[in-house]
Amino acid sequence: MKRSVLAITVVAVSILSSCLIGYAIVNYLLPNYTFNTTIGKVFSFGLPVESVERYGFYYPLTFMFSLSSNSSICQYRYSVSEKWRSVPVLPLADVFNGIEGYRVADSTVFVSLAFKGHSKLQIKLDNQTEFNGIAEYYDSRNCTVVHTLDDCYGNENYPDPSLSVYKAVCDAFQRNKVVATLGMVTAMSEEHLSTEGIVGKPVPMTENAWNIFQNEINEGWITVASHGWTHSSGAYPNPTYSSIEQEVKNGRDDILAHLTLRYGQYVPCWIERWEHQATGLQI
Ligand SMILES: [Zn+2]
Repeated sequence: MKRSVLAITVVAVSILSSCLIGYAIVNYLLPNYTFNTTIGKVFSFGLPVESVERYGFYYPLTFMFSLSSNSSICQYRYSVSEKWRSVPVLPLADVFNGIEGYRVADSTVFVSLAFKGHSKLQIKLDNQTEFNGIAEYYDSRNCTVVHTLDDCYGNENYPDPSLSVYKAVCDAFQRNKVVATLGMVTAMSEEHLSTEGIVGKPVPMTENAWNIFQNEINEGWITVASHGWTHSSGAYPNPTYSSIEQEVKNGRDDILAHLTLRYGQYVPCWIERWEHQATGLQI
């Protein structure tokens, strides 16, 4: 019961946080300047350096341009001293999500690119092209659907929660090419595990479990959010055991120490435990 109630809260928190980050980005992402070259038109976009250092911006944004008579040019670079690189054509015949590339439809060129730790991004298209804004969702789709797996944890010495069940669920998402986000608890408190234990005692995930989750990430359809360090049941700011700062910082640092993530070494989403909120916390 508690877990199902929590799962609903989790989705709401995830959507809220991505909306806030998205709003902050779009405020900056009108073209700083635009100019024509002999072979195309260049649009330059910029982000504050301090924001790039904090968030990375490894997930692609979709820039929209009006279609010109000749759409053969679609290139990008991160600085004026770099050579131009071709933007790949998106694999329209297959299911794709969160990858870089471009497609043409409805008199519009949709270019999905990420800043990837850079504060500037230049996109070159045909001379006749005009910038039409940034899509609200990846690839200008109608909405975002968020799937999260609650209390994701692995330790072979404890049958519940079962590592094999998480793996089976991840495999089902991979087979069907649907993105799912693991709500990871990196050192579950012993009291939450299958055997009654010491309240608040963290039990780290095993190397085998980390390897299994890393393989799932590598297969392409699994991403990671932090759902805390021990899943402490205490209320902020007076938890039963580990502090909210420990829950956020240790959970994040464990993930970064053990996993190579698809969108750079950043954990952009925090999923609250129980119904507790910690508004304004900065780690
Ligand atoms: Zn949970």
